[in-house]
Amino acid sequence: MDNSIEEIKRKIDIVEYIGSFITLKKAGRNFKAVCPFHNEKTPSFVISPERKIWHCFGACNEGGDVIKFLMKWENITFVEALKELAKKAGVSLKNISFEDKIWKKKERYLNMNLLTAEFYAFLLNKDKYGQKAKSYLDGRNIKQATIDKFQLGYAPQTWDSLRLFLKKKNYSDEEMFENGLLVKGVKGGYYDRFRGRLMFPIKDGRDFVIGFSGRNLNDVDKQAKYINSPETPVYRKRETLFGINLARESIRKEKNAYIVEGEFDVITPYQYGFTNFVAIKGTALTNEQLLLLKRFTDRVTLTLDVDVAGEQSTHRGIEEAERLDLEVKVTRLSKGKDPDSSIREDINQFKKDITKTIPVYDYLIDSAQHRYPDGTSFSKKKIAEEVMPFIERITNPIIKSHYIKKMASVLEVSEESIGSMISLIKRKKKTEGVFKPKNKATTKEDRQTLIGKYLLSYIFQSEDPFLVFDRVFNQLQPKDFYLVSHQKIAEIFISFKKNEGRFNLDKFVSKLSSELRQVFDELYLLVSINEPLKEDSLDRMIAEIKKFSILREIKLILESDESKSRKQELANLSKALKEVEKTLMS
Ligand code: ATP
Ligand code: MN
Repeated sequence: MDNSIEEIKRKIDIVEYIGSFITLKKAGRNFKAVCPFHNEKTPSFVISPERKIWHCFGACNEGGDVIKFLMKWENITFVEALKELAKKAGVSLKNISFEDKIWKKKERYLNMNLLTAEFYAFLLNKDKYGQKAKSYLDGRNIKQATIDKFQLGYAPQTWDSLRLFLKKKNYSDEEMFENGLLVKGVKGGYYDRFRGRLMFPIKDGRDFVIGFSGRNLNDVDKQAKYINSPETPVYRKRETLFGINLARESIRKEKNAYIVEGEFDVITPYQYGFTNFVAIKGTALTNEQLLLLKRFTDRVTLTLDVDVAGEQSTHRGIEEAERLDLEVKVTRLSKGKDPDSSIREDINQFKKDITKTIPVYDYLIDSAQHRYPDGTSFSKKKIAEEVMPFIERITNPIIKSHYIKKMASVLEVSEESIGSMISLIKRKKKTEGVFKPKNKATTKEDRQTLIGKYLLSYIFQSEDPFLVFDRVFNQLQPKDFYLVSHQKIAEIFISFKKNEGRFNLDKFVSKLSSELRQVFDELYLLVSINEPLKEDSLDRMIAEIKKFSILREIKLILESDESKSRKQELANLSKALKEVEKTLMS
């Protein structure tokens, strides 16, 4: 297994590969980027073409090889990523047996879903049972090409058609149940979850069928209009956007994604050439969904029902989007309650409406006014509480002042009082610490660890590590490093220098155990995200490490029982301490 993995990594140029997903900047011998896995403005994501690794020194504080990158990017397992990269690199994995149980199950369930989608699609298109659903779609003006594109289907009005079909394909009831396709009855028996419904396979960005939703065929039924797969090993509602598989490319091209409520609000627009629509399926817009979109675009346009239930959740979605630096616009449809009905009423008007976006702040003000319309002091207070936190966060001063004016007129108060409201929110925010980034990097790594990492990083990233060798190891011994792993790396480096005439990175790394290799890969890239060192900083770093080392030694002696008999030693140590402090002060 190791061999083919090495071959894949050799054949795929990590810089070119990751560069096809995100924008990279050269930084010395490495490349830097804004980390795609968390929200940040200054780059802390570094790639080393020599080591064929990447590392994020920001909130993620995580790194790895090209396989790990793809795993994180697509949110997939090791084996999935490996398979995809093997294909790309033209490396055969035939001789490998995968012991990855999680992936085996996932693959089995995804396959079950695919078979199910095909089963439902067959019943809709080829079978007399599907007639009713077919004419329903006809009534909504959905064409055959669209039906095929979205792989729509029909779940028959029976208790066990799907169960019997999948049984023949060697799936057990328990598996079908866990995958959300069956329901358990009160007596313990299983039956089909979706019955007598028009079926929509829900697909992820890579075209895998992860779940289903089903619509009943007449609105008079007492049953829910739509039912959905429950959470399963392959379906996570929070991460799902209906239609993303078909929309992702045009979202990238258009640099915009329309976020809509329902399945038909993706399907009907798609049929008329509006291919960058995705649906949240009547739930709140989540952080996960926005992160998914952020891979393709920096702008989203909310096209949600005016009467969307619980507008608070929309507000949270907008807040999340702001945090991710996504520009949020809002459209209002003048005809019809959603894109599907709007298109059917007047497609030309729809076209105009969706290009006429309003800034999210106007939308928030409108929506608050709409819900608190009576002009009482209570309503004004509500409107202010709802909208002002958003206005406060606007960074552009011209835009901000525009909305301060607008709020003053909406609330019928002076601009000054709006200004003082903003200061109040600012102060409150400071004391409550809302919007504090959950950033591991800010939980201040131990200075002793950090400085050791930094020095080693500096050594191995310098033009020729052997050239700085004397300067460092005339003053330091391996034991002066705080972490044992750093001590070991230093020791190995020293003996490497003894035996080799020239420094060779690959050869050096091959001397490290796999644990040490991980430590090394992480620290190796650290200097790349920082300003270049000044000439004297190397000596200061060395002095600081020395200082910590002496302090540790002093503490050790003082805490032992022999501190009296080791007076001379202590005196020498304090003298040495004074010396390094002098270097540090200079
Ligand atoms: P249609 O156009 O088919 O009548 P809609 O999208 O206009 O559907 P809404 O009532 O506005 O229907 O609901 C918006 C979305 O919320 C739906 O498309 C569906 O994804 C989801 N939804 C609606 N009703 C339910 C329900 N009872 N359970 C789960 N999800 C639902
Ligand atoms: Mn609708």
